Amino acid sequence: MRQGSLRELNLALVLGRIATAPRPPSRAALAAETGLTRATVSAVVEDLVAGRLVTEAEPTPRAGAGRPARGLVLAGDGPAGLGMEINVDYLAACVVDLAGEVRHHVVHRADLRPVSAADALGRLARLAAGARAAAEAEGLTLAGAALGVPGLVDAAGQVRLAPNLGWRDVPVPELLAGHPPLTEVVDGVPALVVENEANLAALAELHAGAGPGNFLHISGEVGIGAGIVLDGTLYRGSRGWSGEIGHIPVRPDGPPCRCGGRGCLERYAGQEAILSAAGLAGADLPADTAPTRLAELAEAGQAAVLAALHEAGTALGITVASVVNLLDLDTVVLGGGYAPLIPWLRPPMLAEIDRRVLTAAWSPVTVRPATLGATAAAVGAAGSVVRRIIARPAGWLARL
Ligand SMILES: [Zn+2]
Repeated sequence: MRQGSLRELNLALVLGRIATAPRPPSRAALAAETGLTRATVSAVVEDLVAGRLVTEAEPTPRAGAGRPARGLVLAGDGPAGLGMEINVDYLAACVVDLAGEVRHHVVHRADLRPVSAADALGRLARLAAGARAAAEAEGLTLAGAALGVPGLVDAAGQVRLAPNLGWRDVPVPELLAGHPPLTEVVDGVPALVVENEANLAALAELHAGAGPGNFLHISGEVGIGAGIVLDGTLYRGSRGWSGEIGHIPVRPDGPPCRCGGRGCLERYAGQEAILSAAGLAGADLPADTAPTRLAELAEAGQAAVLAALHEAGTALGITVASVVNLLDLDTVVLGGGYAPLIPWLRPPMLAEIDRRVLTAAWSPVTVRPATLGATAAAVGAAGSVVRRIIARPAGWLARL
């Protein structure tokens, strides 16, 4: 094995251990766990510390006699990930450091449907520049960026179709050219990765903590997307286009959908469909406050709102039951705008799941709110950059 690649493997091995250890490990503990010699571990740790990837934890007093315990933790002042989201009614940018802390987060509310893709991406670039300045002011260095969009993205980062934004074949990386840090190529990998926002939200949920290894994460916005997590890994599909749950037909002869089909889930459980069924369409209701407003009206017992949420929950239950029958998932996570509506969506969902999932009688399906809520996609995007550095620290170190 080449010396260079052995060093790369050792860097990734030691950093991976530090990232996942339940408490800060010492160099001796790392040597014992990895099977590397103490001298090798010390040399590797020295590189990681010099590269601002790892730092000594604050010593914690040890019970009883002896010196306080020391250990190594991920550095919070080195590389960071820039996460962005573009959606129908908002833009978001956030910075997450290597230790997983959200250090900066900003949301810009605007209806982006009447706006050209180039204009929307220009606004996003300005938001990203602000996030970069905020990161640098805190001593962080952006190591890459990821952008979530509500649509189908190909391997080159081109948005092939985002029906709710009215985008078709939008060359996102090209339109963002000239906006560092979005266009650099680092270590052979473009500094900007474009990804479906529902996938990023599912990844954020997966890494937010104690979630199970198998679940379906549904993001309820104007459109509805899903991320499928199987055995702790996001299932992207053979071309990266999995999860278009919003266009599964609930009633094949139902109302026409923007996708060209009829009676899709989105026509019953998308945010605008719920508002319209509740008689609130056209009301002066900013999209970001719509879920909270619906929850307030449901709480007050408003009949039309309760009926609309029951209809949406029923449609979600019918769709989810098919997915569960197909993939044998035991948990469904409701994210995006669905979180405040769970008390009204869950009962009709569970009724349909109980009726339609063959195994529900002895193995119930859990329906629960997402941990991160509406910010999940941008945070998940930034987290994906950070996890790439942890998986391959040599790439970051080579830039220094
Ligand atoms: Zn559709």
